Amino acid sequence: MRLLTRFSVVFAPLCLALSTAHASDAHWTYSGDQGPAHWGELGSALCASGHEQSPIDVEKSQIQPQKVDTSELKLHYGKVPLKLINNGHTIQASAAEGDTLTYKGTEYRLLQFHFHNPSEHQLGHQSYPMEMHLVNQDKEGHLLVLGLMIKEGRANKELAQLWKHLPAKEGQEVQLAAGLAPNLAKLVPAASHHLFYHGSLTTPPCTEGVQWVLFEKPIEMSKQQISQFHQLFPDNHRPTQSATGREVDED
Ligand SMILES: [Zn+2]
Repeated sequence: MRLLTRFSVVFAPLCLALSTAHASDAHWTYSGDQGPAHWGELGSALCASGHEQSPIDVEKSQIQPQKVDTSELKLHYGKVPLKLINNGHTIQASAAEGDTLTYKGTEYRLLQFHFHNPSEHQLGHQSYPMEMHLVNQDKEGHLLVLGLMIKEGRANKELAQLWKHLPAKEGQEVQLAAGLAPNLAKLVPAASHHLFYHGSLTTPPCTEGVQWVLFEKPIEMSKQQISQFHQLFPDNHRPTQSATGREVDED
């Protein structure tokens, strides 16, 4: 029992953090007086004082190759009904139950995915036009976020229907039936190396203890698809944070 109590205390802040991570009523923005440089003063102290913050610029010298076995990460993704929300910070697609993954033997459930313009992470100082985050949570509240870089190229068929239904106004919600939802098994690159590191939410309250998994292989979207999102969110990225002392493992 004592162990259980301790666990619930430890993990409760993460659950709280998740529910408020993209809350539309939070008073923070991506520029100006309430921009990323001020998040620490706006009631999210960890954004300024944390030591394992995200995103980061992953440099070659940080990467420890073959530290993770490729079989450690298994995705069981497909098509599930989605609820799209324009929360003022991004378009978030909340996922109905069904999509799961396992990492090092622990099962995580996909809660939601959302998008940033431009990419938040950088790979070897390289930034991308967009980045997609898929937020997964295990039974105890631990978060594991998959980060997909998006580069300009062919139109992304899996996201085509979702893109036709992007809620343009803050607070607006749109239900997307499974038939119109992207098949995440096809969207996420099957053959890619991954980069694993410990970081945080990239939005207030910047809660740490997040397992990040970045795909080295980007996905593609057309110039038009990218510009459609850019029109809704001209800039919704947090700048890279110090990666000093942090190891990045590769499979
Ligand atoms: Zn994100």
